[in-house]
Amino acid sequence: MTKDLFEDIIKKIESYDVIIIHRHVRPDPDAIGSQGGLAEMIRCGFPQKTVYTVGEVPDSLSFLGVRKDEITRAHFQQALVIVLDTANQPRIDDQRYSLAESIIKIDHHPDNDQYGDISWVEDTASSTSEMIVSLSEASNGKLPLNEKSASLLYSGIVGDTGRFLYDATKECTFLAAAKLVATGANIAKIGRELDQIPLNVSRLMGWAYEHLDITPEGLGTITLTDSIFRRFKVSEDETSQVVPMIGRIDSIRVWVVFVDQRDGTYRCRIRSKGVVINKIAEKYNGGGHLLASGAKVDTSEERKGLVTDLLELLKQHPDRG
Ligand code: AMP
Repeated sequence: MTKDLFEDIIKKIESYDVIIIHRHVRPDPDAIGSQGGLAEMIRCGFPQKTVYTVGEVPDSLSFLGVRKDEITRAHFQQALVIVLDTANQPRIDDQRYSLAESIIKIDHHPDNDQYGDISWVEDTASSTSEMIVSLSEASNGKLPLNEKSASLLYSGIVGDTGRFLYDATKECTFLAAAKLVATGANIAKIGRELDQIPLNVSRLMGWAYEHLDITPEGLGTITLTDSIFRRFKVSEDETSQVVPMIGRIDSIRVWVVFVDQRDGTYRCRIRSKGVVINKIAEKYNGGGHLLASGAKVDTSEERKGLVTDLLELLKQHPDRG
């Protein structure tokens, strides 16, 4: 990013007394980690400012210690809103963001929905948390890291890179992580918290491995219905743990976890080891990264259409991923 853009963001932060930080619905460790990490950096550098973090926090991520602040519409007047890790406006958790006087977007998804008075989008960055580390570094000490923000941002990087495994992991990702470790990020605790799963989720995983459908092209699909949620006593948030485990199977190149929305529609969590899938996700009311996207299908025809499109894609690229 250009020096000017960093300066503009820091000047905006300096000029507001009230700053409200948002991120996307159904948050993951990068959404919550970048939100809490930036909030802590601003509190540390500007103790006189009031910083709020908004949006629902799922139980599975409550260990990160980022709370949902209860604020009213009045708080947004004359406030600066910073939206993190959220490509498009409908996915911003807490739609009151639009009431703010000024809005900054900071994100690492493809920039399909440009919003905000200032927009800093780097779609090659591993995570929004990594971007927030570089904002701290560019701030000349105005937005300093401490142990708390370092742990939150490290959680975000670990979460979005699958522990430094995915393609977007670059040298700068390790440099950012090293900086966070040097600042005191509690990496053993974070590693354990992000890795461990409740017993019921482990049983769901066993069931998923057994019932997975795998085509000769390498498409893996599994449907988590309402009755499966009830049988294993899992919440929708907890299905996020099932998604990466399917990719461990060597014969799978692209996979979809269909998650029952209890209204006849399915949320589709799509992942790939090499073939770009986000254009297909966009066709089905979704989008996301090149190799990690989400979509929504409303009918069984749409669902079949998604599977057919993915199979066609795999046939076109027999050698990728
Ligand atoms: P998920 O499977 O929900 O973890 O989503 C994977 C990625 O796809 C995330 O980076 C999301 O930002 C993106 N994504 C998921 N659902 C949607 C959607 N409906 N529209 C746009 N992007 C989405």
